[in-house]
Formats: sequence, structure tokens, C-alpha cells
Amino acid sequence: MARPQHRTPEHRAERKRITAAQARGEWLICVQGWHGSSGGCLHPTRDIAPTDEAHVAHNDEGNVVIGPAHALCNVTDGGQRRHVAKDVTRWVL
Ligand SMILES: [Zn+2]
Repeated sequence: MARPQHRTPEHRAERKRITAAQARGEWLICVQGWHGSSGGCLHPTRDIAPTDEAHVAHNDEGNVVIGPAHALCNVTDGGQRRHVAKDVTRWVL
């Protein structure tokens, strides 16, 4: 189930750029935790190998594409943010 932020032209362009770079055998840098995104890189190094699964990362608002992130780092950060949002709702109620 794709989130709305994954349907933007910016997201698709970055996805394409990442895929093309990896196809050329280029290494990428995981940006999780930078540029307005919370969380951080969970791998021992921020290097993303051409064979690693890379995701398109967004800032916390989800409206700015900030670059590639390891799949693990990106998914973990998204999950934590949803968890936090749920806790906030509980306090408000
Ligand atoms: Zn990472």
C-alpha cells in the first residue's frame, strides 16, 4: 500500500535516480537522520552497496525527498514515527 508521499514526481525521480545509480554499480549514502528526518542509520556504515535495497527517504513531514536510505533504516524510522503518533493520540484522549 503506497503512501501519498510515494506518488509525487519528486519521489519517482529519486527512485529512478537511485535505481539507475545502483545499476551502474555506484555506492550511495544513507541519509536517514539528516535533512529533517528523525531516526538514524542502523547499519555499521552509511554506505549503500549497489546490491543493497535502497529506499527513497523523506523528511519527517513526508513532503520533501531527501535522498536514498537503507531499506531497514527507512522502514524502521517510519514505524517508530507511527508509534509515537499513536502515543500522542492516547495522551490527548
Ligand atoms: Zn542506513
